[in-house]
Amino acid sequence: MLASHVVDALRAIAGDDAVIARPTELRVYECDGYTLEKSAPDVVVLPRSTEQVAQILCLLHREQIAFVPRGAGTGLSGGCLPVHAPVMIGTSRMNRIVAIDVANRRAVVEAGVVNAWVTNAVKDHGLCYAPDPSSQPACTIGGNVAENSGGPHTLKYGVTTNHVLGVELVLPNGDVVLLGGAMEDVPGYDLTGLVVGSEGTFGIVTQVTLRLIRQPESWRTLLGIFESVDDATATVSGIIAAGIIPAALEMMDQLIVGAVEAAFHFGFPTDAGAVLIVELDGLAAGLDPQVQRVVDICHEHHARTVRVARDEAERAALWKSRKRAFGAVGRLAPNYCTQDGVVPRTKVPDILRRITEIGQRYQLRIGNVFHAGDGNIHPILLFDERNADEVRRVLNAGREILEACVALGGSVTGEHGIGVEKIAQMPLIFSPADLLVMSQLRHVFDPDGRCNPGKIFPTPGTCVETTRPHRQAAM
Ligand SMILES: Cc1cc2nc3c(=O)[nH]c(=O)nc-3n(C[C@H](O)[C@H](O)[C@H](O)COP(=O)(O)OP(=O)(O)OC[C@H]3O[C@@H](n4cnc5c(N)ncnc54)[C@H](O)[C@@H]3O)c2cc1C
Repeated sequence: MLASHVVDALRAIAGDDAVIARPTELRVYECDGYTLEKSAPDVVVLPRSTEQVAQILCLLHREQIAFVPRGAGTGLSGGCLPVHAPVMIGTSRMNRIVAIDVANRRAVVEAGVVNAWVTNAVKDHGLCYAPDPSSQPACTIGGNVAENSGGPHTLKYGVTTNHVLGVELVLPNGDVVLLGGAMEDVPGYDLTGLVVGSEGTFGIVTQVTLRLIRQPESWRTLLGIFESVDDATATVSGIIAAGIIPAALEMMDQLIVGAVEAAFHFGFPTDAGAVLIVELDGLAAGLDPQVQRVVDICHEHHARTVRVARDEAERAALWKSRKRAFGAVGRLAPNYCTQDGVVPRTKVPDILRRITEIGQRYQLRIGNVFHAGDGNIHPILLFDERNADEVRRVLNAGREILEACVALGGSVTGEHGIGVEKIAQMPLIFSPADLLVMSQLRHVFDPDGRCNPGKIFPTPGTCVETTRPHRQAAM
């Protein structure tokens, strides 16, 4: 338990109402979107400024206390689960858009700004912030930076790292450093690039300079309905092979389509094997021939029907269905675990067959909703956390799916990070020497190992992490 003088000092820095220490209130913070493991911190503190973050980290440095950063808690790999870290530092009150520079297409935002707010703030200027995780109405820019998040439109526009120019970072000893900035290219090491994707292990990101892009002049959004997942995935390869790079290329299989339809009544046929959402964007003049080519490719791969959204309202409804698919899954089972792996695009049919086989062998229902154009799969394993045997099967099936991704030339995460969930899988893709270099790098930023401990790196000499103090669902 955290000493009372530390809690008092946190209150003195951030204010009484910024410190949460009641056990019932702390339960809100005991997990993120990865619900298989839970552990509440001793205290949550919600600073309002960089200065307060710096004072808090100075205090924790003096007292040698570990801490965990948290944005909106939508992470899917247990990144903000407290592991031997009594203090959680949440950024939800650091939610100001500090500056918008329309002419140079830049925005400076505090880390707790919600992703979707950025585009909302600049869309009247014809601009947008491109990375659009499906969680964008809730997740924060700080969380996006930590996870190097992607989204449906990253196929064409790239992931977070391609849109972050600079960060203000408070180091674990309380020092504030500015890395990168508004300029396109800054001399020296690309430390901004290092921080993006560091999963909250280098310090607390307090402000971020973002690149904005012009909104495309025009869009066409298509819905292809297929009898089988194989036909839909062959269509994905066909579209790319034809030299077309859609802005987004997303797939949902029958199980997910059923849940989404029940929730949003978009009009998806629930007997279809899979649906494909294809979005093309760019200059209006060149779009229609591309749309026709995509429609033809869908039909070449036996599409049952292909529908082009008639107007902005239909396009918005289609994206709402896709982006809220995870929420709709709540209709299928009390709990679900979203796996995240990546394979070369041409291997998508192979990995989906493997997932079906693994699901059958473990007697689990597994749905698929994913960024097909990137080869980034999201098998959703349904379960009931009160059933210990089912939880065990989910964990084993998830591990086998990731091993299959690696065997097909892919990796154990496409965008959700390692967190606590995938620590044991790190040696599948990295040698001991690779892991050593990465942990030495972490040591430079966080020499005492107090910033988000127990994440990313396996304990040397073990293949299963057993040192985590928190509880696992029904186990
Ligand atoms: C329904 C749903 C859909 C999703 N869709 C996508 C998707 O399409 N693409 C995608 O990539 N992800 C997706 N995710 C995963 C998740 O939304 C992203 O990883 C997101 O970036 C997490 O942001 P957050 O603010 O919730 O961060 P949190 O979950 O609070 O934290 C995530 C990690 O970031 C660290 N962190 C948070 N803030 C800071 C900070 N200021 N400084 C340092 N470290 C920090 C935490 O310690 C933790 O390690 C989805 C999640 C859900 C629930």
